[in-house]
Amino acid sequence: MFTSINPFTQETIAAYAAHTEQEIEQKLQQGDKAFRQLLQVSLEQRRQWMMQVAKLLKDNVTEHAALITREMGKTLKEAKAEVLKCATSAEYYAENITAMLEPKPIISDAYKSYVSYEPKGIILAIMPWNFPYWQVFRFAIPNILAGNTGLLKHASNVSGCALAIEKVFADAGFPAGTFQSVLVSSKNIEPIIADPRVQGVTLTGSTPAGKSVAALAGKYIKKTVLELGGSDPFIVLKDADLEAAAKTAVQGRMQNAGQSCIAAKRWIVEKEVVPAFTAEVKRILQTLQQGDPTLETTNMGPMARPDLAAALAKQLQDTIREGAILELGGTYEGCNFAPTLLTGVTNNMTAFKEETFGPLAVIIEAANEEEAIALANETDFGLGSALWTSDLDKAARLATRIESGNVFINAMVRSDARLPFGGVKQSGYGRELSLEGTHEFLNVKTVYIQ
Ligand code: NAP
Repeated sequence: MFTSINPFTQETIAAYAAHTEQEIEQKLQQGDKAFRQLLQVSLEQRRQWMMQVAKLLKDNVTEHAALITREMGKTLKEAKAEVLKCATSAEYYAENITAMLEPKPIISDAYKSYVSYEPKGIILAIMPWNFPYWQVFRFAIPNILAGNTGLLKHASNVSGCALAIEKVFADAGFPAGTFQSVLVSSKNIEPIIADPRVQGVTLTGSTPAGKSVAALAGKYIKKTVLELGGSDPFIVLKDADLEAAAKTAVQGRMQNAGQSCIAAKRWIVEKEVVPAFTAEVKRILQTLQQGDPTLETTNMGPMARPDLAAALAKQLQDTIREGAILELGGTYEGCNFAPTLLTGVTNNMTAFKEETFGPLAVIIEAANEEEAIALANETDFGLGSALWTSDLDKAARLATRIESGNVFINAMVRSDARLPFGGVKQSGYGRELSLEGTHEFLNVKTVYIQ
């Protein structure tokens, strides 16, 4: 059984039976059949169905958002924004997919040679609970438009979201089986990865999950895209607009109750501006209302599960024991974790070395910009990064030295359908979104005509 529990009230919302082996086989058959049907369907038709996906999401935004909030605790406001982001991305790809799939002519010895981009079959998506709609849609939209079909193994605590997303694609008119959810535990994933109808695996989740799934996919020669954990640096140089930097730092760390892969997890601040920056972030953090996620006045909901809050509390206590100073917060009850600020954090402390997945902000002092860059790179992760300075030439120069999948200058790290998204180092490989993401699970086929 998969049980969904409301993180704020701790009430059980629903329990879903795991699919049997026979049901999983039916889903694989259906997904394969839908793939063959999609091959016969024009791109124009697929674009129209995708526009219908966008419309269904927009028309029912409140219901979808309420489901997200009930299952994983983010505020209703955040949940609505997430659903609408899925809708606008569906529209974006419906409008732009034709150019992305256009064959690319290449001059060679041939009379004519080109590359065509062709779908491969069922893609298995293993997804996390933190953005239970967006993580799924950002994979599903371009893949389905390109002709692949999707089989989702969602996180065990958001089965209601998984089934609601399946219904959106079915209601939009796509052939049955184009997008399906499979309720299966992680330990039973191997037979699905092994199945020849499954042509690729995309995983968004923790680095240990990525290692395990990539090893299995390697065993069966299946392409993988891995979107894994992060410990993003948020660098504030002494010439930065401190007010704007502080506001964005808090937003970047505390949105989604701190449970974002691209949260600003390590605030690295040049020493001259540490006092002013600390005072300003502290002021803003004190204005945050943590609590009932359904209320308009709440701007930070609970964490998604009590075990996650307990794990964060342990990282916090370890970091304090190692010498950091608790400036604000530090308490929790159940899933409700107060926005917390630590100062005096150094590179040998837990909150620097490990990914912290909750509302814990840390300030790390850097002697100068050289040390700031060195500290930023002193991590196994390499997902996002932010750099704040008023000198844009310097920013462009320093951006090339940060080891990460993206660098946002004077802005908050975020994903955008138009820009590639992904990491380096232990944050994974491959890309989602944009042209690069759209091509990941396609057969990049060379055609050579003599
Ligand atoms: P998680 O525990 O790794 O779970 C993610 C998904 O992987 C879930 O569906 C989970 O299923 C499944 N899973 C876990 N271990 C598996 C295994 N050995 N084999 C097959 N499937 C497995 O991660 P989470 O706690 O849900 O999410 C938080 C992590 O995701 C953080 O590290 C965060 O940084 C990362 N994340 C990365 C991105 C990105 O774009 N790079 C985006 C969001 C989150 P069960 O629920 O059934 O265990």
